Amino acid sequence: MTPTSQVKRMKKNDLFSLKITDMGVDGEGIGKYDGMTFFVKDALIGDEIRARATKLKKHYGYARVEKIITPSPYRVEPQCPLHRRCGGCQIQALSYEQQLAFKENKVRSNLQRIGGFSKEELEQVCLPIVGMEHPFRYRNKAQFPVGLDKEGKLVTGFYAARTHAIIPVEDCLLGVEENKDVLMAVKEWMLLKQIPAYDETTGTGLVRHILIRYGFTTEEVMVCLIINGDRLPEKETLIERLSVLPGMTSISYNVNTERTNVILGKHTECIWGMPYITDYIHLRNTGDFSVEDTAIAYHISPQSFYQVNPVQTEKLYSTALEYAKLTGKESVWDLYCGIGTISLFLSQKAKQVYGVEIVPQAIEDAKTNAALNGITNAEFFLGKAEEVLPQFYNSDDLDAGMRHPDVIVVDPPRKGCDEQCLSTMLAMRPERIVYVSCDSATLARDLRILVDGGYELQKVRAFDQFAHTGHVETVVLLSKGIIDSQKVKVEMSLEDMDMSGFQ
Ligand code: SAH
Repeated sequence: MTPTSQVKRMKKNDLFSLKITDMGVDGEGIGKYDGMTFFVKDALIGDEIRARATKLKKHYGYARVEKIITPSPYRVEPQCPLHRRCGGCQIQALSYEQQLAFKENKVRSNLQRIGGFSKEELEQVCLPIVGMEHPFRYRNKAQFPVGLDKEGKLVTGFYAARTHAIIPVEDCLLGVEENKDVLMAVKEWMLLKQIPAYDETTGTGLVRHILIRYGFTTEEVMVCLIINGDRLPEKETLIERLSVLPGMTSISYNVNTERTNVILGKHTECIWGMPYITDYIHLRNTGDFSVEDTAIAYHISPQSFYQVNPVQTEKLYSTALEYAKLTGKESVWDLYCGIGTISLFLSQKAKQVYGVEIVPQAIEDAKTNAALNGITNAEFFLGKAEEVLPQFYNSDDLDAGMRHPDVIVVDPPRKGCDEQCLSTMLAMRPERIVYVSCDSATLARDLRILVDGGYELQKVRAFDQFAHTGHVETVVLLSKGIIDSQKVKVEMSLEDMDMSGFQ
């Protein structure tokens, strides 16, 4: 009997022994049983478990932990009692050291398996992962759903993993301590004024979510109530309660009357204070990152995209900036630039920066942030990187810096860069490419294309932006090979020469 024929007979609810040898992006344990790969929530690398099959596909399946037979040596007592029920922290039971080792290894193995890079060449370029000194209370943003529990009691909290049932959470250990007082104040106001919580199943009720943002450097607090209606009743009482909290800077409500999972609606109304909070990202030369000290201020509104882990972001951006090796003379493209967070740092050290981003509001924020910091050498373009970049590359009447930049920085979403974008980058032949990635699988795929196109992998460094989850960020430096760069210089100077007089 072949192993597969044995497995074919496995049915839902069958029990079997499983050794967990890997971990998926969502922190689920992965183990192999008779040639089939099983994904098991709450199982950790190193665990030996009795598993119960919950779903079977042809070559893989899902199972749950029936019993831990031999616990992984890397298990620790999770600090949050809700970690198994809540969908937020998938790997809190794994020691932080092992979380880092796992993430570092994940990047390397994807580069090997998907990117086809050899172990030896990765040995030369991979630097140790940059972890967090304090892997709790690192998030500057929290969105708490509001609802009623089974007894009809008003609760705020988080959604349970893969469901929309609200687990009451008074204090999340990933968020700042300030969140707790805000939640209390809003709940008290709702009870006092009989403001109903939103009910997802019927689409009735008013308060859907409480969004809280906190400026780590300024200690400014923003609260935004997302409501199912276009008017906030009893707002004076709400303001009375919230405005006395330390750091309170901005109170607003956002209208979302759609039956949707998307949290924020389009319209936001500020009812007290400023419509935004201000925060700074401060890059420092720490020895690990050799950048000049510099800070950029950002205005953050309820809708703005902003990195949620400011402490790690400073390390990540410092590295990206260090890899860009700017002297003040360079032209730089920053693709997938969001609100211009990286672009504005680049612009302080470069001659000119061009940012591209697909979300109109983010482009508006990028322009505002540039003005706020007195930056005049950063231009922002709205559109898809894979369309905007070729348009500029193919246009004749541009300065050479736009068509042949010295550096290109990319920070794409999880799906990575579009092929058209990568081929245009190769055609532009920048001296250096800095790739910031939030998915090492698509990173590996894209790096293979860039390396096959003539670039050399110089440095790879993973960062932990999201402790207790399976996510890992990576910054990669690629450079144009020495011989190749000479060849291209000749080609470029021919291309850029004005030959019109000879025709
Ligand atoms: N570099 C920024 C944001 C990176 S997140 C920062 O560090 O803050 C990735 C960004 O890519 C998002 O803002 C998203 O809106 C944008 N995006 C997604 N697809 C895109 C595309 N095809 N072209 C340009 N931008 C895109």
